[in-house]
Amino acid sequence: MKSDDIFCKIVAGEIPSYKVYEDNDFFAFLDINPVNPGHTLLIPKEHYKYLFDMPNELYSALWLKAKDLAPAIQRATGAKRIGVVVEGFAVLHVHIHLAPINSPRELDSTNQKPANPEDLAEMTKKIKTEIAAS
Ligand code: AMP
Repeated sequence: MKSDDIFCKIVAGEIPSYKVYEDNDFFAFLDINPVNPGHTLLIPKEHYKYLFDMPNELYSALWLKAKDLAPAIQRATGAKRIGVVVEGFAVLHVHIHLAPINSPRELDSTNQKPANPEDLAEMTKKIKTEIAAS
């Protein structure tokens, strides 16, 4: 399914992103408005608007990919947990929020604030290093 939503454009390289991971099916990059440093968005490259419309195989693989990436994000950030959120009201392209958290309620989107580009670039390097070491 084709679409020109912002995340499809990121996958296509038409819009820059702080990419931490890519393979044939999935793409992960930093949320530019994190709840905490290291807040990552994991998306399928293929365009689906809604998580529960995904075919079973890709849906399962998406969650297994989240399981693969979460420990690297946790090591890079030193967070106690990687919290998981799927809302998708702002961008109609399936994405899982993988957010480093240290206490309850940090996942609330009202905690999201724009991060500065230097911090995002630095965190991108750290997470990529940890993924490479996984
Ligand atoms: P939601 O669809 O409610 O899960 O929110 C979409 C999320 O995408 C928000 O957390 C935004 O900060 C994030 N977002 C939007 N545009 C970009 C972008 N260009 N790069 C990284 N994150 C983005």
